[in-house]
Amino acid sequence: MTDFTPDIERLKLLDDAEWLAVQRAYCGRLYAFAKRRIADRQGSEDVLQETWLGAVRGIGDFDTRYTFEQYLFGICRNRTIDALRRRKPRTLERGSEDDELPGIEMLATDVDTPSRILRREELGARARELLVAVLKEWVEETWTAGEFQRLMVFEALIGGGWRNRDAWKHFGLRDETAVAGIKFRALKRLRELAAVRESGGDLLMALERASEGEEHALDLDLRPVWSDGRVSCPSRHWLARLIAGNLDAGPAGFVRFHLDAMKCPWCRANHDDLVAADRNNALDPLIERVHKSTVHYLRSRTLP
Ligand SMILES: [Zn+2]
Repeated sequence: MTDFTPDIERLKLLDDAEWLAVQRAYCGRLYAFAKRRIADRQGSEDVLQETWLGAVRGIGDFDTRYTFEQYLFGICRNRTIDALRRRKPRTLERGSEDDELPGIEMLATDVDTPSRILRREELGARARELLVAVLKEWVEETWTAGEFQRLMVFEALIGGGWRNRDAWKHFGLRDETAVAGIKFRALKRLRELAAVRESGGDLLMALERASEGEEHALDLDLRPVWSDGRVSCPSRHWLARLIAGNLDAGPAGFVRFHLDAMKCPWCRANHDDLVAADRNNALDPLIERVHKSTVHYLRSRTLP
């Protein structure tokens, strides 16, 4: 199952058929994302409607450095936060269906805070982009080499902010030194990958310092880059294969870790959607309603 890739130019022209196609392809995962955080059906559906209106209105400024799914999830996350804020007292009492933090608090960690914006500025937008690219490259080569435990350990440390001690226990490694060794080698490799793309520069220096030892590790906060950049997110067909039960133990172990231990909200939404899609076409009427509301907007913009 390959994921649907929309024609952004046609979307920018507010082409009705292309918008319907993307709504068919993406409604399920967006709805799954909202439903995990907003208890009732109507509230989740409202978020979905607002997400699509936001997507249609904002498509002119679509940033090609991101995928269309990232674009949609970004809007959906913000509309979900708005909805949760409006009903905050009830939501915070309720908690959530599993061991995830209550919706809004979990989402709030994803939102820009002054300190995070500051860190971004320290590294510079271009260096951040480069960092996302080399992290993705590292994930890909580690995956291809079948080094799934190394991938999980690094994701736990960098993406999850685990301490060496926790990772050592969780993965049953020899000792904490083994964890430190994995991290050290990964940072060394990231430096090499970054050096291929540019010499000197902020990122190389920051990676250099981060590799020198624990006391410098905080100079470079990889965590927001790891999660916002979705550097380790398996593509949708890996999730589908996991559900179908035809994934080897190595990749299946990683994908499960990413879903269950890292609780990646985007992959969980995709996973929920794929599981539901297996069962029925219950979303069809919902997609109809969503499309009607965006069509109204599209018409108002395209008719003379
Ligand atoms: Zn993910």
